[in-house]
Amino acid sequence: MKDFVFLAPATLEEAVHLLATHRDRAKILAGGTDLMLQLQDGLFQPDYVISVRNIPELNTLEFDPERGLTLGAATPLRRIETDSLIQRKYPQLATGAREIGSIQIRNLGSAGGNICTATPSGDILPSLVSLEATARVASIRGERLIPLEQFFTGVRRTVLEPDEILVDLRIPPPPPRTSGAYIKLYTRPAMDLAIVGVAATVTLAADNATIQRAAICLGAVAPTPIRAREAEEILIGHPLDESILAEAGQAAARAARPISDVRASAEYRREQCDLMTRRAVRLAVERARAAA
Ligand SMILES: Cc1cc2nc3c(=O)[nH]c(=O)nc-3n(C[C@H](O)[C@H](O)[C@H](O)COP(=O)(O)OP(=O)(O)OC[C@H]3O[C@@H](n4cnc5c(N)ncnc54)[C@H](O)[C@@H]3O)c2cc1C
Repeated sequence: MKDFVFLAPATLEEAVHLLATHRDRAKILAGGTDLMLQLQDGLFQPDYVISVRNIPELNTLEFDPERGLTLGAATPLRRIETDSLIQRKYPQLATGAREIGSIQIRNLGSAGGNICTATPSGDILPSLVSLEATARVASIRGERLIPLEQFFTGVRRTVLEPDEILVDLRIPPPPPRTSGAYIKLYTRPAMDLAIVGVAATVTLAADNATIQRAAICLGAVAPTPIRAREAEEILIGHPLDESILAEAGQAAARAARPISDVRASAEYRREQCDLMTRRAVRLAVERARAAA
């Protein structure tokens, strides 16, 4: 690995100034579980590595009934997985975090690192997109808010400019009778990347049966996480039954644009998209009923 200067700013202001000064010669480091491997493989050869791990604004985990959840980008995945408020109000997010690597990886790895690495199989991406999270990014030019669905532009590509830092995620408060689920399909039960990952967030109407709102996001079946909007529309306005679930599952499979690779063929991924969507929606509806 090439030598680099390690910088550990204590404030966001200091961090954006360092990044503005060094731009393409610098890389941000949060937990390092992706970056260190990329440096070892020579994928990046930065002169400066800027750690954002100790910046307080990037470690926020705050819930406000009006504004919802603010989740700092450097928040360790293990904290997200074990936080009782997240488990209760955003179970799809707690599960997405828990599905990543091992406890050691989750102690180091962060939400922001998973997002900025932007691999199609990133396990917290589908849940965050189905929760309609917004990313707050900062540079010396100021701040901007980006709906997370628009954050990813391709495999390992995002809208982030070289001088921008992901600061936090803003996740709206769940309305009454709302819950969600994330289901990951993998070959091995531990330390394996998703073959397919599906997150569903649903809100039930006052009758506690009719689906009023649904947001389904598919992971690992396209270059970026994608919303299965046709499937969502099939569900909305109906109580859940097997025929509606089957229609929604098939619509999700049609939305997928999978590839064949070492982990699975495109055909298998598409088929599993259907089944995983049915499972995720069913579990999300059960949880939304229980949350009422
Ligand atoms: C053994 C192993 C198993 C794994 N298993 C899984 C798995 O099952 N599922 C899964 O999704 N991932 C998995 N990963 C990948 C990795 O652990 C996650 O992507 C993790 O969330 C990365 O977070 P990090 O804080 O370590 O990121 P880092 O390595 O610190 O950073 C990753 C990238 O994001 C950039 N970055 C980080 N924070 C910011 C920020 N705030 N603003 C701008 N850019 C930023 C960095 O410059 C770098 O390019 C695994 C990794 C390993 C080593």
